[in-house]
Amino acid sequence: MGFLTDRVQCYKCDLGRHRETVLPTGLNGERRLAFVGEAPGVDADRRGEPFVGAPNSILTKLLGVLELSRDQVIVTHVCKCRPPSDRDPYDDEYTTCLHEWLIHELTMRSEMPLVIPLGELAATVFLGARPIHNVAGRAWSTEYLTGTLWDSLVPWGAPVLRVYPLLHPALISESGLDERRFWSDVSRLRIVLKKWAHK
Ligand code: SF4
Repeated sequence: MGFLTDRVQCYKCDLGRHRETVLPTGLNGERRLAFVGEAPGVDADRRGEPFVGAPNSILTKLLGVLELSRDQVIVTHVCKCRPPSDRDPYDDEYTTCLHEWLIHELTMRSEMPLVIPLGELAATVFLGARPIHNVAGRAWSTEYLTGTLWDSLVPWGAPVLRVYPLLHPALISESGLDERRFWSDVSRLRIVLKKWAHK
């Protein structure tokens, strides 16, 4: 529990002064799929759970499509603390947090998990600044990664990393078009996971 205990006391960036909870992560075992959201919202911050409400229902349905249970995957965020008024985290906040925590969450196991960034900010840390609609629903492997987190991993020995971004579950209920796109991308992810499992 040292990893989580240290994080509970983390004040490495300004967000530490505003949060109610630092969100925990499923750290036990060799979970091979990691869903990485952007930052907790107000309800997640209050309840100390990574996804709550409508986004949690969508994540549960998504896991059903992939035939996975919650305890088989990592669910975490780029930024572990809620930004005030649910604004986007600033560059220095999420960069500090991912160097402090996310990078270790992904590398502390024997095999790098397959990473599913949820939303534009999470995709950006792996793929550089690109619109989420241009990168979601496609499998990206090591040679295409250019974001902050990938640049930080390279000196560790450039591990094999596979990334498949999706639109953020919190956004898809706002647009029928995005909802259709999201579930179509999830269907393709199911096929991609089967292929990756056999490599
Ligand atoms: S956002 Fe991350 S780095 Fe900043 S205080 Fe919270 S846990 Fe620490």
